[in-house]
Amino acid sequence: MKQVFIRVPTKLLLLIIGTLLLLSAGFSTVSLSRLNAEFKAYQAETLIQGQEQFKLHEKTLRENLRVWIESFADVVHLQEKNDFDDLTKEISKQFDALQLHHNVEKMWLIDSKKNILYSSSITPNYVLNSVNKTLDIQEPQHLLYCQVYCEQLLTVPLLNKQGDMVVVALAVSLVDMIYAINQSIKSEIAIVSFSKSDQAKLHEAQFLSASDIKLMRTLFVQPKKQISVEAIKAMGVQVDISSHSYLINLMSLATNNQRAYYMALIDDVTPITSEYKQYRYQFLLSAVLIFVTLAGLVYFVSSPLTHRLIVLSNALPLLARKEFDQFRRIKLKRKSFFSDELDILADATSELSYELEQLNLEVEQKTKELENIAMYDLLTGLPNRNMLNYQLRKSVANLSQFKHKIAVLFLDLDDFKKVNDSHGHGQGDRLLIEAANRVRLSIRNVDVACRFGGDEFVVVLGKIENVEEAVVVAEEILQRFKTPIKIGSSIFYVSTSIGIAFTEDKLIKAEELISYADIAMYEAKDSGGAQYHVYHSEMYQRVAHRVMLEGEVRQALAKNQFSLSLQPQLVAKTKRIYGFEALLRWQHPSRGMISPDDFIPILENSAHMIELGYWIIRRCFELAVMIKNHGLTDSRIAINLSAGQFVDQNLPNFLQGLLVEFSISASHFELELTEQTLVKNVDHTIRMMEVLKGLGFSFAIDDFGTGYSSLAYLKQMPVDVIKIDKSFIFGMLENHSDYQIIMSTIAMVKNLGLTVVAEGVETSAQLRSLMQNDCDLIQGYYFAKPIPEAELLDFIDAHIVDNHWKTKAL
Ligand code: C2E
Ligand code: CA
Ligand code: CA
Repeated sequence: MKQVFIRVPTKLLLLIIGTLLLLSAGFSTVSLSRLNAEFKAYQAETLIQGQEQFKLHEKTLRENLRVWIESFADVVHLQEKNDFDDLTKEISKQFDALQLHHNVEKMWLIDSKKNILYSSSITPNYVLNSVNKTLDIQEPQHLLYCQVYCEQLLTVPLLNKQGDMVVVALAVSLVDMIYAINQSIKSEIAIVSFSKSDQAKLHEAQFLSASDIKLMRTLFVQPKKQISVEAIKAMGVQVDISSHSYLINLMSLATNNQRAYYMALIDDVTPITSEYKQYRYQFLLSAVLIFVTLAGLVYFVSSPLTHRLIVLSNALPLLARKEFDQFRRIKLKRKSFFSDELDILADATSELSYELEQLNLEVEQKTKELENIAMYDLLTGLPNRNMLNYQLRKSVANLSQFKHKIAVLFLDLDDFKKVNDSHGHGQGDRLLIEAANRVRLSIRNVDVACRFGGDEFVVVLGKIENVEEAVVVAEEILQRFKTPIKIGSSIFYVSTSIGIAFTEDKLIKAEELISYADIAMYEAKDSGGAQYHVYHSEMYQRVAHRVMLEGEVRQALAKNQFSLSLQPQLVAKTKRIYGFEALLRWQHPSRGMISPDDFIPILENSAHMIELGYWIIRRCFELAVMIKNHGLTDSRIAINLSAGQFVDQNLPNFLQGLLVEFSISASHFELELTEQTLVKNVDHTIRMMEVLKGLGFSFAIDDFGTGYSSLAYLKQMPVDVIKIDKSFIFGMLENHSDYQIIMSTIAMVKNLGLTVVAEGVETSAQLRSLMQNDCDLIQGYYFAKPIPEAELLDFIDAHIVDNHWKTKAL
């Protein structure tokens, strides 16, 4: 429904007009009816006055005449006379005087025998009737008789001495009476007749006599709507001529067979009606005046209000558009001593504007924060993973447009976990912040460095020409990390491993590129860290192979595909059995026997290797118990530990648990660590070695000579045995330098008070040479290949007697 707009002042105005109209209608009805009542009262009074005057005059006339007749009878001494002759004679003489002074028109003298003793004119029947009646009741009679005109008939009985009765009848004209009444009541008077019908109308009047006949005639034909005589008789009628107003009243006089006769009283009511008009005019005028004043008042009071309301309603949309300053620049409040609801409203809206502005600010700030949280890393302030994905996708998308290439550098801090574990997260966080700064400083403005998570960072070089540019950045980063990081009083030597993935392939996915860089980073880390590796597809193959292997190892464990082979170690001089080295075997259902060299290095750092390692250790405990029970009471089993396995915090607990479980001394075990494992984390390794040493385990350094560790370095560690790597043994007789290395190593080891083992001894010549040089222990195919565990006891029975090797001797 469409709404019609009406302004508030208009509405108020309409309300006032309505109220005023209602009031004036009510007021005028009341006053009119009061005026009407007054007018009616006036009319009734006029009528009564007329009637009274008429009766008074009529009576006076009558009484005067009666008195005159009776006095005249006395004058002629009627009561002393026996007849009426003198009376007749004398009264006839008086007829002229009566005519002149008393308006007597006609006179009759009639005796009781109906003899007309005198008559001034013919004697009509109504006179005779009246005389008869007078004779009957012997009292004076009077009656008003109208025919052509109206007259008053008076009949007075007179008696003579004899008691005979005579009646004097006098017909008196009413003309004089009319004038007399006219004079006394100031009303114009007329005698009128109407046909004797209920429908008789005013204008049908016949005038018998009138005080002002001209006025009467005009008045009687004037009313347009002709009113019946009956109605006029009841309430009169008001007739207006020119500026005058008249009230006509009809007073019934007499009736005969055909007509009714009335005395009409005409009053000039002009003063009354004009007063009435005046009153009405004044009323109207004051109503108009009040209306105009009120309208003006309404307008002046309400239009500023509505104006302010309109200003406000025009201003409010500014709030919706967040134009708060603009909104407040609009003057909503006026300077006034008194305030009103609109001022309160103005105050409220201005407060609202401040609150809305504040709210808006908060929303904007929160939105920004949210955006930052979504796009930036809170700790380092670097863009986060979300931003990285976005930027990288953008860069990849741009590849098709411009002829350039992109590179992704995946960084992982080396040994960051160590800092976190040993110095707490607070220090770790500060280290990360510094690391982030170094990364940030190493790149160009157009490049993006992001925190990928934990201690990993990713740099996107979105516009480069060749991979060398990426290498330059990687070298710059490595260079910056060479400076130690100082946090509080601590100094950290933190390096980073970097994997670089480089591409111009438009179809490559951002995630793929990151994972390639990640693979290359792993390679760098595996190669000792603090270096960069550029990704190539072989790396991917390796990773794929590793992932596959991991899955297979898990299955192999469940399916019991692993077993151990044990290779004896003999004391060189006595051929006494020193112990056995446990070597892992994997009997793959389809691929056959898989060499540990083919999967252990690949799984080096994986969780699967740790799980497998625990399986190996437990199996070694079982075998140690078995060998011991079989009679080799002081032989030991050498267990190879991978690097990942050795840093595992649970290792000491696990080993201790097994010692208790199998009730076997730790002296039956030797733990083999490679030089690589030692070098990776020297502090931790020493600590771990000391713990395990405390439990009673001894340590052997495997593959000695392949790494960089010097013996002086090894001196700090709780090492018992040094195993010279088999690669030196293989060529010791052909290659002089190998020989030199072996011999000097043996000498130095012995000098340190440690035991030395030669592994990979395949020939008697090798054995002989080693023995000449005082090598303690021998391990190699010359004596025995690793023996599958299932065959071990049989082997022992076949080859070992009283802890000594019996079959082969030098
Ligand atoms: P390793 O610890 O140096 O073990 C010695 C390796 O040399 C064994 O190979 C052994 O069979 C082989 N060998 C011994 N004598 C001779 C010889 O006279 N001539 C030749 N040509 N080879 C000889 P295997 O069993 O294939 O093990 C290879 C490597 O796998 C081991 O080298 C060791 O590093 C690792 N490995 C084996 N078993 C385990 C294990 O249980 N745990 C861990 N962590 N690593 C293991
Ligand atoms: Ca070994
Ligand atoms: Ca070895």
